[in-house]
Amino acid sequence: MDKLTKEQRHRCMSSIKSKNTKPELLVRRFLFSRGFRYRLNHPRLPGHPDLVLRKYRTVIFINGCFWHGHEGCKLYNIPKTNTGYWAKKIKRNQERDKEVKLKLNKMGWHYITIWECELKPSNRDKTLESLLYTLNRILLLNYGAKTYKTIEEETSIMAAENKDAGYFKTTQA
Ligand SMILES: [Zn+2]
Repeated sequence: MDKLTKEQRHRCMSSIKSKNTKPELLVRRFLFSRGFRYRLNHPRLPGHPDLVLRKYRTVIFINGCFWHGHEGCKLYNIPKTNTGYWAKKIKRNQERDKEVKLKLNKMGWHYITIWECELKPSNRDKTLESLLYTLNRILLLNYGAKTYKTIEEETSIMAAENKDAGYFKTTQA
């Protein structure tokens, strides 16, 4: 039998929720402290991006590695039971993410993905630094461009270390 009162359950659920959004809070606090202003969960943009920086024409998604299927990441571990179910579910999330990205790029938005694992204490500084770098680059690109070019960026540690493979993936809108 469920012995929690309504209020207790509510408190319990909200603590779970706030725990889940910790990576997002981290990015928000960082950007805010650096003078960036943003809108949250923009309802009229595809995929309801976590953060929207209008001045930069940039959306930021902060993705949980498991739910969004971060390839090659140890947090993306399909459970040993119900494997088929989870694989299918996560594949669907990945496909939806791809569609959203495509739509936003077509609308001329730069798209940045930050993965949960990149905000772990050991990676955090590097990730946030690379986020700043990307945003500055976007600003320059926007001012310099006659037509919109969009940057599609995973602020990935791997990508940052593998500069030969192209730090930025730039797509023409
Ligand atoms: Zn990851």
